[in-house]
This record gives sequence, structure tokens and C-alpha cells, in this order.
Amino acid sequence: MAAYLYSVQMAQASAPTAANLTTSNSMPHEEIVRRTQQEYALEMWGAGYFHVNAEGHIVVSPLGPGSRELDLYKIVNEALDLGLSLPMLVRFQDILRHRVQQINEAFRLAIQELNYAGQYRGVFPIKVNQLREVVEEVISAGAEYHFGLEVGSKPELFAALALHRDPESLLICNGYKDEAFIRMALLGRKLGKKVILVVEKLEELLTIIPLSEAMQVNPMIGIRVRLTTRGAGKWALSGGEDAKFGLSTADVLEACRLLENHGMRDNFRLLHFHIGSQVPDISILRKAVREGARYYAKIRKLGFDKLNYLDVGGGLGIDYDGSRSMTENSTNYTLQEYARSVVSHIRDICAEEGVSVPDIVSESGRAAVAHHSVLILDVFGFIEKTRTRTSDIIQIDEIQRGQNSSTVEKYVRELRSMLSTLNKKNRREYFHNANEIKEDVESRFNVGIIDLHEKAAIETLYWLLAEAIVRSYDQAKTVPDEVKALRASLAAQFLCNFSIFQSLIDHWGLGQLFPIVPIHRLSEPTSYRGTLVDITCDSDGRISRFVSGEDKVNPTLALHHPQGKPYYLGIFLMGAYQDIMGDMHNLFGRVNEAHIFLDEDEPEGYYIEETIPAATIAKVLEDVQYDSSFLVREMKEQIDKLIKEDHLRPNEGMKLLEAYEKGLQDNTYLRFHCDSSTFNSDKI
Ligand code: PLP
Repeated sequence: MAAYLYSVQMAQASAPTAANLTTSNSMPHEEIVRRTQQEYALEMWGAGYFHVNAEGHIVVSPLGPGSRELDLYKIVNEALDLGLSLPMLVRFQDILRHRVQQINEAFRLAIQELNYAGQYRGVFPIKVNQLREVVEEVISAGAEYHFGLEVGSKPELFAALALHRDPESLLICNGYKDEAFIRMALLGRKLGKKVILVVEKLEELLTIIPLSEAMQVNPMIGIRVRLTTRGAGKWALSGGEDAKFGLSTADVLEACRLLENHGMRDNFRLLHFHIGSQVPDISILRKAVREGARYYAKIRKLGFDKLNYLDVGGGLGIDYDGSRSMTENSTNYTLQEYARSVVSHIRDICAEEGVSVPDIVSESGRAAVAHHSVLILDVFGFIEKTRTRTSDIIQIDEIQRGQNSSTVEKYVRELRSMLSTLNKKNRREYFHNANEIKEDVESRFNVGIIDLHEKAAIETLYWLLAEAIVRSYDQAKTVPDEVKALRASLAAQFLCNFSIFQSLIDHWGLGQLFPIVPIHRLSEPTSYRGTLVDITCDSDGRISRFVSGEDKVNPTLALHHPQGKPYYLGIFLMGAYQDIMGDMHNLFGRVNEAHIFLDEDEPEGYYIEETIPAATIAKVLEDVQYDSSFLVREMKEQIDKLIKEDHLRPNEGMKLLEAYEKGLQDNTYLRFHCDSSTFNSDKI
């Protein structure tokens, strides 16, 4: 039965609808660039790392604008040939290196230009991405700048102590601490590392002081001050007077008194603040730096002469939507402006107060790692609202021939007439008329006076008319809000093989935008405007806000008809927080990974250094206490019982058990083969 208008099509084998599909043909490169810019704002958020080539593929320049381009589509195919499957996270280790160098060089330049007497000693907060390969690459790229690490928990400290080797670079311990945490940090001091214990609440000092005496360690102590300046955007609560971390002014003075009383004045080495991540507005950052620098200077004037680091925390933002504005998903400043602002404000306040300038520490996580990874998804089907079948038309004809209730017959005639006489003058009036008809039919259906066939016929005609109305605005300069909303509700839903809860948690939880672009076929016109849905069994598992060159944020994304072939989308700027914060909803677990390195000796200019297979079903089940041998035993017991009762042949039973055991080692995500059989709603 062709009941409702939604149809599910397998991407691999479905036919495009006449209404939706534009024929594919290639375009000149400038036109490809223009369209990619218009639809996806690629060059705006790409920061010089991502472009589109003449083949319509996304290319990556890991060393920034003008550097060698790697074809992302080819890389993905090579990783698939190596046995990985989708979804897949592609990491560009050279982008990581480049970002770390850029941050350090920005401060180096600002210090030089502003004649700043101190140095820059940045650290990477490993909570932003703890993957060993990421942290190792950051350390290696930052070695010449003595770039250090920041940790916020015991496990992070254990990892950092092992990886941190440079006695000149800092290892900063933030977050609440217990005795074991403090003991381990002091052990790092014994190894000659510059480990700084940042006091987040006064009581911590009461453990640090006796423990360092007992361990005979000269501790480096930092204090986090709670500024009155608050951040802005989604992470604003990390700063301001209500922040959960940091000492009030009175507590800072109490900490100073405690240190003095224990003869530990010289152990107070660093003053820290952090007003939140992704601060969109430079004026807020400047205000915070001025306030922090004032605290620093005043404490120095109390006689804490060894206090020589001022740590401005994280917050350096990323322009996720490419709008260069002070909106939540963007920033109104560049990296260089940020570095200059930090350096100049600290210099000026110190000059005003007559104290020597500190070495500057920043804890930029997002800005260091966001760009380096791209999540690749495959589209395996889509749900369309206006796919009309022959059977629908026959049904509508029958209704019009008068075999049904007269009201429905009248509505069918009216809707058909509107469809055939629609023009620019009457389109909004027709839209309102059609809405009224649809509402009336819904009420009649709810009280039981029309049947399913009648309802289906009216809805078919309504959506056809809606689509025609939306299309009539295609070239219009202004589109009324109600038509924009209609356009969004007509959007096809593209089914993508991934979990938002695992891979895009900040989009789900905070509505953060990540740019999404097909990584190939950009030389062909798109056929659809669609939203994306994931494979979790949750209605929240969808994306319906997209970065766009036209509207900044668009409820739909321009997409191609998959035409029976693999169709890959890239979600960009994924390297910060997303990898690590993803949860286990539906037990999908970690995705496949490919790590890419530039290499001039390779014909394509790169090689895939490492591939990390995704979590297996056995692994994710183990994480929630289902041991594989327990599961197999339970299955075997049930199978044996059925065999004994003659409900199952022994041969069949053993095959079943074998399939279960083998399946446990399989990937948690879906697997599709291009030649798989067609599935669409006409067949149900
Ligand atoms: N430092 C601290 C104390 C943080 O809490 C955070 C994250 O919120 C960071 C640094 C990293 O911030 P961002 O990723 O904005 O650079």
C-alpha cells in the first residue's frame, strides 16, 4: 500500500525523482570553487587547510595556504583498501604540527614586536584530545619552543609524566586534587620536571605544604584566581564569580599568608585564570587578561618575587562557521591578534604597576587540535517527502471520480487546480489555502470520518504543491519565513552511518556547529537539500543546522543523489573534544582511524602511517560488563536446549553459535556493499 508520502530509498540503487534531480555535468574550476563557497563556506572556515580541486574533490594542505594539496577522497579510498571501514576519522598529523608552530610563532612575533621582556611558555591541555599519537605529535612539534602539557585529572597526569621529557617546558596540574594526585605531581618534581600544582581551592594547599615537606620536594605552586570577567558563548560558566574553580581575592590573600607562614613565599610561581573555552569576542579576552595581569602585579608587590608565570588559560576560539563574527560558533579575531592582545595588555599593566613582566603561559587546546581531523561518513539511504508513485496517482484519480466523501473530492479538485495554475502572484495565497485543507483533513481523520486512502491522497497533493511553491522561490532575492520553514520541512533526510552521540557530542549537547561537506562530486550540481540522520535509535540523532556561505546557518545541506555509488561526507574541525567526549549510546564506540603524514618521496605526497580499527562488538560489550565467554556460554546453553528438544538440528545449532562468536569480533557500525539489494518502500 502506498500510504504516506515518506519513502525510504537505498542510496546504492534508487532512482532519482524527476522533481528533485538535476542532471550531473562538470563545471569549470572557478565555478566549483564559487559554489562550494556559497553552499558550504569552505574557504571561510578552512583556515587555508581545506580547498576544492578541479575534480570536485576536497583537498587538504596540511602546511597551510599554498602548501602541497592531498586529495581527501583518494586518501579515504586508500584507507578503505587497507581494510578500514566507515565511519572513519582521518587525522592529518602535519596540520597538528603546523597549528602548534603557528601558536608559538604568533606569540614569538608579538613578543618581538612589542619588545616584551619575558618569554612564551605554552602548554597543551590534554583533555582536549588525549590520544597518544596526538599528544606525542604536539610535544614533538612544540619541542623547539619548550611547549609543555596541562592536565586536569590523575589519569591525565600519569600519561603526561611519562610523555613529558623537556625539563624546560611546564607540566601544569589543574583541576581538584587529592593526596595521591599531589604526591604524583611532586614525584614529577623529583624527576627534575617543572610540574606546577595549581591550587583550585584553598584546602589543596593544606595538603601540598606538608606533603612536599615530607617528600623533601621543592614544589612549584600556582594559584587559580576567580576573575570577575566572564567568558561568552557556550562555555561562559567557566569564568566569573560563580565559576566552580578558582580562589576569590580573599582566598588568594589567605593562600599568600599560608605560604609565607611556612617559609614558602618563593614556591608561589604561577598565577592562573581561565574564563571558558571558545571565547568569541576579543574584547572579553582583553578584559580578562587585564584583570589577571592586575592580580599578578599586585601579588608581586606583596613581595612574591619568584612569581614569574602568568597563565591566561584556554579560550582561543575557532571560526567554525567562517563568519568571523562574535557569535557562538565563530571568533571576531585572529590568532595573531589574540597573541598581541595578551602580550600587550600584560606588558602595559606591569609597566603601570612597576613590576617585571612574567613569562606568559597559555593553554590553547581547541586552537591547537581542532583542524587536524575530519570524520568521513557514508550515506546509505535517504527518506524523501515528495516521492509520488503511480499507485498514488491512481488513488487520487479514483477519489476525483467521486467514489469518496464529497469534501475530500472537492479538496482533491482544489489542490489539483492550484497545482496547475500556480504562479508568482497566487503562490502565497495557494499555500495558505492548502494549509487550511490539510488541517481540515487532519481533523476529519482524527474523528474518523475519512479513511487512510483519502488522507494519503490529500497529503500527496499537498506536498507536491508545497514543493512547487518552494521551487518557485529558487531564484528569489527574499524568501518569506513561512516558505523557508516549508523548504526545511520538505528536506530529504540522508541516512548516515555514524552516531552523533559518539562522534559529535557538542552538536547534540550544545548545538555547536561543525562544517559538513561532501568530499567528492563537488563538480556536479547538487540535487537535494537535506538533513542528516544517524543510525542510533534516538530521534535526537540528527543534524539540521549547517554552516553555509549564504545564510551562515542553514537548516538543510546541499547534497547529491548517491546514484547507487558510495557517497562520502566530511565533518570538519573535529579534532578538539569530540573524540574523547563521545559517549556509548547504543554501544557504537570508537570509529576507525587513519593517520596521514606528508612525505615528498611518496608519489601522492603522503603515506598512511597508522590505521586504528574501530571498536568491535565484543569490546564495547566488555566495557559494560558483558564478557565474551559469558555471552557465548549463555548462547550455547540456549542452543543446546533447543537441539535436545529437537527444535534445532545440531548442525544448524553449531552454525548459529559460530556466527554469534564470529559476529562478536565485527565492527559496531553498519557495513554496506555497493551491490547490495535494493530496498524501498514500494517493496514493503
Ligand atoms: N585550560 C583549562 C583550565 C580549561 O578548563 C580548558 C577548557 O575549557 C582549557 C584550558 C582549554 O581551552 P580551549 O580549548 O578553549 O583552548
